[in-house]
Amino acid sequence: MKRVVILGGGIGGTTVANRIRKALEGEVATGQVQIQLIDREGIHAYQPGYLMVVFEKMRPEETRRDEAQLLHKSIQLVKGEVEKVDSAANKVVVKGGKELPYDILVIASGSVIHPELTPGFVEGAHSFYDLANAQKLRAALHDFKGGKIVVSVAGMPYKCPVAPLEVTFMLDDFLRSQGIRDKSEIHYTYPIPKVFGIDTVAQPMQRLMGERGVTIHVPFNVDKIDPAAKTIKGVEGETIPYDLLIAIPPHRGADFVGTSGLGDKGNWIPTDRYLLRAEGKENIFVLGDATNIPISKAGSTADYEAEAVTHNVASMIRGEAPTTRYEGRVYCWIMTGLAQATYIKFDYLHPPHPPTPSFAHYWNKVIYNRTYWDLTARALF
Ligand SMILES: Cc1cc2nc3c(=O)[nH]c(=O)nc-3n(C[C@H](O)[C@H](O)[C@H](O)COP(=O)(O)OP(=O)(O)OC[C@H]3O[C@@H](n4cnc5c(N)ncnc54)[C@H](O)[C@@H]3O)c2cc1C
Repeated sequence: MKRVVILGGGIGGTTVANRIRKALEGEVATGQVQIQLIDREGIHAYQPGYLMVVFEKMRPEETRRDEAQLLHKSIQLVKGEVEKVDSAANKVVVKGGKELPYDILVIASGSVIHPELTPGFVEGAHSFYDLANAQKLRAALHDFKGGKIVVSVAGMPYKCPVAPLEVTFMLDDFLRSQGIRDKSEIHYTYPIPKVFGIDTVAQPMQRLMGERGVTIHVPFNVDKIDPAAKTIKGVEGETIPYDLLIAIPPHRGADFVGTSGLGDKGNWIPTDRYLLRAEGKENIFVLGDATNIPISKAGSTADYEAEAVTHNVASMIRGEAPTTRYEGRVYCWIMTGLAQATYIKFDYLHPPHPPTPSFAHYWNKVIYNRTYWDLTARALF
């Protein structure tokens, strides 16, 4: 029997587990292949929903499902905290002593937010990168009576690169809907000399910020936040006072990546950007936020990567060489208000060209959010 172990029950791990099961249906049914998925809590978090929770477009409970409900019944769910991958012995070591041997390992352990890496962040900034903080921000906006809001990014790379743009535009609309936009200022800081990393997106987004009266501070690399003085200071020397600060925390890869000797200094796993194999490891594939590939850390990236990983895992199980390439496809909507959006679609060779924002693009995102659980996570199409 061959064992395929998938590490991580988020967007990437769940969809790739269900797809591998489908691709190897016969082998799984006859017991020639066993698929196991290990996840810390066995709860699947749909993180794109957190921004929707802030603006009351989704309820908190709509962002979470029991992982067991999403996996095909033939996939074994193991709940536990991975301590280490012993790639020399082909096994995953789980806290408490359990070990999962594998023939092929797929790592989809995502990224970890580290607000504590920026002085003053925990006490001084709001965030929406986990559910509890998204709910706190929703309450803070509910109580907001006007003043200066600063949106800031406290470290790169971070997941969902368009999220700071989205929260800025949604805020603008929200403040208008509350009748307090004229009593408020919105300031946007970004660590590079433009408002987004890709020129064809940065230009229209900067124009839109101009139309919406958003003040831009770039480049601005966060040095520290002073919660008592209510200021945020950049390493470039500028200090901006705020009444409400919304910041994206620094990110790193999972701790076990470092302790297993699989990662770089940020615990991101060096990964072949086409075959999605961990560099130097024949039988380990990586997808989603966990890779070091310089491409958007996004659910859609993980979803497209899952196609290539599925084919490559199935090939290896059948004794063939893995040859299916991930070509760098990404598709992300960008909310440009409370009920309008545009989108970016690109790959390694073709940059995105976001269309004019519209209600129709927003509605497509709403439909995607609702069908996510069946179409993407359960891989039903
Ligand atoms: C506010 C917000 C908005 C976003 N909006 C969008 C969007 O609109 N579109 C988009 O495409 N993407 C969006 N994203 C990004 C998207 O959610 C992530 O890129 C995506 O979840 C990455 O998938 P993943 O499978 O790599 O990791 P995750 O979905 O984070 O899953 C990782 C899993 O691994 C488990 N795990 C980690 N370490 C261990 C361990 N040691 N032991 C056991 N289990 C472990 C975790 O518990 C988790 O279940 C957004 C993210 C946020 C925070």
